[in-house]
Formats: sequence, structure tokens, C-alpha cells
Amino acid sequence: MNIETIAKHEFFKTQNLDYAFDSLTHVLNRSVFFSYVEYLIKQGTKFSFCLVDIDNFKSINDSYGHLTGDRVLEHFAKSLCEILGESAIVGRFGGDEFMYVIENVEEYDEVWKNSHVLNVQMRKDVDFPIKEPLTFTAGLTRHPIDGVKFEELFDKTDKALYRGKLKGRNCFIIYLPEKHAKIDVNKSRLVDKAYVEINEQIFSTVFNSKNDSRTCIDNAIKYLMSCLNVEHICVEGKTSMFFSTVHKLSVVKEFSHIPIAHLNQAAGSHGLLYASQRNVVKPLSESLFYNLVEQNINSFVIARIQAFDKTYGYVRCDMCNINRIWQLQEIDVISTLARCIALRLYYDEKQNEVVK
Ligand code: GH3
Ligand code: MG
Repeated sequence: MNIETIAKHEFFKTQNLDYAFDSLTHVLNRSVFFSYVEYLIKQGTKFSFCLVDIDNFKSINDSYGHLTGDRVLEHFAKSLCEILGESAIVGRFGGDEFMYVIENVEEYDEVWKNSHVLNVQMRKDVDFPIKEPLTFTAGLTRHPIDGVKFEELFDKTDKALYRGKLKGRNCFIIYLPEKHAKIDVNKSRLVDKAYVEINEQIFSTVFNSKNDSRTCIDNAIKYLMSCLNVEHICVEGKTSMFFSTVHKLSVVKEFSHIPIAHLNQAAGSHGLLYASQRNVVKPLSESLFYNLVEQNINSFVIARIQAFDKTYGYVRCDMCNINRIWQLQEIDVISTLARCIALRLYYDEKQNEVVK
């Protein structure tokens, strides 16, 4: 963010800009940005406010180190400023979270159009110093439609952003009270500790000795559905699909069996495969790719149900209308489910042998 762009805005003409910028990313620091928004609110200016958070940034730090992480942040902020142009004022909230304001833009359609352009351009034109595609999730509100106090606007923007993360990341959400007012960000944000609990809960559900294995597996799949917000979870057996659970908000209501040979071909020796976009599957298994196209599935995780050297099938999680950015913890709990099911089936078989 350069001084010339900033200086065009009335508020900054009266400000000392010596310490106004974040030292790493050169966009406005949080306190100056907040003062600017408070000023706009006082003036009664209409504007849209956006919080932008990079998806899975921790894993970029983990894979490439913090210095590369820093370069990604610099690059991300620079691109954000370039693509948004002079009409937007950009700041860094902290970490991998940025924010911007566009004055005099508050009509829903216009906010949507701006966000869409940003989304498309960031994906198309920016060459980040990492191998994987970099995505982000954004939440947006409008002043004064969504609130007349900054605190209120910020909270609502955070809810919209959180909804986007929950939906699978890589999207932008414009706050709508009827859809997002009830979201409790603090209560529902899944932290690492919550994933540990999910792992434990899956284990105890699958190995619940009071129920037969069918009931246990069914309960475990329904439980995972309630935690992950995916559109569909099922167990793929050799000849058909079992325990298929579709999320109540899924647009696609029917999912069909994918032959296990196609899944085996794609999952290889690891027995685990996840993708945000189905195109990446084409070189691994064309048949699986066409199965996904037929069912309109864009993103998926498959985890082999395998105990020792015996394969029973796969746990499959699907998303249709979004390129979901899977978190490692999510893949971890899906694998846990597949392993637990495998062991339960294996020991059931052993017990039956003893009985015979
Ligand atoms: P999510 O998709 O839910 O946003 O996942 P995430 O991994 O991006 O999680 P989150 O946004 O909570 O993580 C932000 C990380 O950014 C945590 C912290 O280690 C890292 N971070 C914060 N400030 C800096 C910085 O200045 N440089 C670098 N390299 N990393 C930073
Ligand atoms: Mg992030």
C-alpha cells in the first residue's frame, strides 16, 4: 500500500503516516486501519468491510519454514492491494488475516462483484513462492446495513468469515442476518483439542460393545458428519455403498457407488487420497475422475478400510459445489474412522471363526 494511494483519502491527510504501516507487508497496521474505519463511521460513509484469512497457512509455515511464510504474506498483501486498486484501503489484522474497506460500495450485487473479481484474479495472476495453490476465505459486511458500530460490524464479518471456513474454505461469504446471525464463533471454532476429542469419540463409538457393528459404524459416520460439515459420507464396499449419510443442506441428495477398483487405483499404496479439485485425480484414475463428474463431486477424501492386509472398502467424504481445502486434522479424523471400522470388522470376523 503506497503513501500516494493513502494520501488521496481525506482521513489520512491529517495523520502522521510514519508508523502507519505494517513492517512486513506494508499495508496499514491494525490501529491506524481501525481509526480510519471509525472515522468513516463517524462521517456516515457507506462502505463494505472485508476480513480475508489465508487457508491452512500454518501448514505453509510447517512445510516451507517461517521465512517463506513471511514471503507468502508479503506477496499476498501486495497482490491484494494491486488487484483491489486505489479504491480499497488495505490493512493487516494480524498473522495471516488481512482486511480492507471499499468506500461507497454497499449494494449486495456490487460487493459480490468486487469479491468475485478478487477471488478470480488472486487465483489466476499471483505466482506464490510455494508449490501448492494458495487460497483464502473472506467474510464481508456493509455499513450501515449490518451495523453502525465498528465492533458490531467486525463481529458480523468474523461470523461470515467463520462460516466460509466451516463450509470448506476457498470462498467468500457476505453476511446475511437470516443465515449467519446465530453463528457463535467462539463456541464453534474447531481447535486442535477438539480434533483430539473427535478422534477419541470415533474410537469409542465404533468399539461400543453394547451395539452390533452395523449400528456402531452407522453412529460413527453420523457423528463425523455432525463435526465436519461435509456434504456426504459413506462406506464404499466391494459391490455397493453402505451407511450413506447426506448433509441436510446438500444440494445433491443422491450419491452412488464408486467401484472399489477405481478407488484402489487412485489411492495407491497409502490407501488415502484427498483432493480439492477433481482434476488432480484424472492422471491417477480416469475412471474415478468420471465417477466424480457423474455425481458432481468436486472435492473428496477417501481412506481405505484396511486391517493387516485385508481391504474391506473405503470411507468416502464428498463436497459438491465447492473446492474444499481440506485441513490435515480433518483428513486425520477421516483416517481414524477408516482404521477403527477396519479393526472392528476384522475382530468381528475373528470372533465368528471362534464361534464356528
Ligand atoms: P485456517 O484455514 O483455519 O485459517 O487455518 P490456518 O492454518 O491458516 O490457521 P490460522 O489462520 O489460525 O493460522 C495463522 C498462522 O499464521 C499461525 C501463525 O503461526 C502464523 N503467523 C502469524 N504471523 C506470522 C508471520 O508474521 N509470519 C509467518 N511466517 N507466520 C505467521
Ligand atoms: Mg488462516
